[in-house]
Amino acid sequence: MATQQKSSNSLKAVRGTRDLLPPETALWNRVEATAREVFARYGFGEIRTPIFEDTQLFARGVGDVTDLVSKEMYTWADRDRIDRAALRDAWWKEAKQGLEPLHEEKSDADMVFRHSNGGITLVNFAERASGEAGRALWHSVKAYKQQRGLSDVVGTLVYPEESVSEGIPRELLVDGSVDSWAVRGNFFASRQSLTLRPENTAGVVRAYIEHKLGDSGQLQKLYYIGPQFRRERPQRGRYRQFWQIGCEVLGPVSSGSESPVRDAEVLEMLASLLDQLGIRDWQLQLNSVGSAEDRKRYNAALRAALEPVKAQLSEDNQRRAETNPLRVLDSKEPADQEIIDALPKIADFLDADSAAHFAAVRAALDACGVAYSVNPRLVRGLDYYTRTTFEFTVPDGSGLGTQNALLGGGRYDGLSEMLGGPKAPGIGFAIGEDRLILVLQEQDGREGVNGPHPEWMFAQKLDAYIAPMGVERNAAALALARELRRAGLSVEVGDGTFRLKKSFEAADQVARHIVILGEDEVRDGTATVKTFATGAQVKVARAKLIELLRQK
Ligand code: AMP
Repeated sequence: MATQQKSSNSLKAVRGTRDLLPPETALWNRVEATAREVFARYGFGEIRTPIFEDTQLFARGVGDVTDLVSKEMYTWADRDRIDRAALRDAWWKEAKQGLEPLHEEKSDADMVFRHSNGGITLVNFAERASGEAGRALWHSVKAYKQQRGLSDVVGTLVYPEESVSEGIPRELLVDGSVDSWAVRGNFFASRQSLTLRPENTAGVVRAYIEHKLGDSGQLQKLYYIGPQFRRERPQRGRYRQFWQIGCEVLGPVSSGSESPVRDAEVLEMLASLLDQLGIRDWQLQLNSVGSAEDRKRYNAALRAALEPVKAQLSEDNQRRAETNPLRVLDSKEPADQEIIDALPKIADFLDADSAAHFAAVRAALDACGVAYSVNPRLVRGLDYYTRTTFEFTVPDGSGLGTQNALLGGGRYDGLSEMLGGPKAPGIGFAIGEDRLILVLQEQDGREGVNGPHPEWMFAQKLDAYIAPMGVERNAAALALARELRRAGLSVEVGDGTFRLKKSFEAADQVARHIVILGEDEVRDGTATVKTFATGAQVKVARAKLIELLRQK
């Protein structure tokens, strides 16, 4: 009973999140290293943006606000932030009589003043009068007195009267060196709404605008690898914290950012990356959602076509039919499929420029020999997508459960302007790294049916396991491990309390060789090495040891 209670009380990773542990993380690292290497070959550089941003960043440019903003994001109001400058100005209006600011004076207090009676007053501005703030000031006063050999030094803690303050603790007040001063007024800036990023494109474009990356006139090719957060119903291949590996190509129109060549290059790079990772049977689904104008006309046509059949749709789609009819096309609801198939197609609403752009992308893919199929239902729900949209999927039974999208992306020619930036057309994608790993692991299980796997998918054994015979040999074992590791070998050190049999068992699990360090070996400067793969055992001089352990 007691143990049961204990286990139900113990803390677990939050629903929809998980720990990634070795040896699986080795696979994650290999996938990421491969992605970095491929991206570098195409001229991409890494960008790392913050994991949380102002909620506005994600709220803008999102069509179906109810879906994404309220349901799917982790959003909170940040703590009050105090406006220190306003607090200082308000206090100064009340206090200035008899105080002369000593701007040059060094102290860890915020400000130093000379009082008309000759004494010194240190002032700190704080969010509230608390023990912590009181103590900091008390110590500043003490330090100031000691450093300058003065006795007439006091500290004043200035704080907003309306703050929730426990006050300066009494024991700090008894010697009279600190007091507090409450100022009336509102010094709290409004609470900022913050959100854990549900995707990374908005953050990258925000950074592009903030750092004026467009001013160089160059096309920006940026990639990122990192966690994203969505409050979705967890299932296989769908988590609340998941990882994306993504790229964005954007820049001023003069840098060629609008060209269909960019779209084709990104798609060809993805095809090469998936091939290099050993993902088999991927399919590229391609579509064009046209310009913002095309979409407006298409949306109107969809609304009109949905009107008479709306009542037959599933509940979510009835709402979408009104708020964002494009998202109805995304529906996987079996009951809705027949209605969706009969709806107008976006291809019939593309203007001449968008149609030419799409044709050019397809022609370039054909020239590269990258296979794709046009999927007229592939429209991304977010308002900022324009022209090319795409998804790479894997067949059912590839390890993703009911999810089959490995990655998605598209063009977002108007996004920068929506976020208050300059015109900066762009295209990008995000690979679901968790899903990529699931597919690789599933393929791993089918080895032999679909061909061999790249060697990097398997956990690598260490080069050597050093087994000290007896605790007296522990120090020598550690010294030898240092020498081998510094020579570039991977090494584990056993424990001198182990018996020989236990050392062999432990070594066999993790390493290709066991290096036995007994009394004789330490004395003679030798080592006894057994190679598990062959069963061969030899005693070698230290000089030969590294060479032997390097042999595969
Ligand atoms: P999106 O940003 O929605 O276009 O998603 C891009 C890719 O990220 C998808 O194709 C998935 O592979 C992956 N993805 C999206 N949401 C999740 C999730 N909740 N859990 C795991 N992977 C996800």
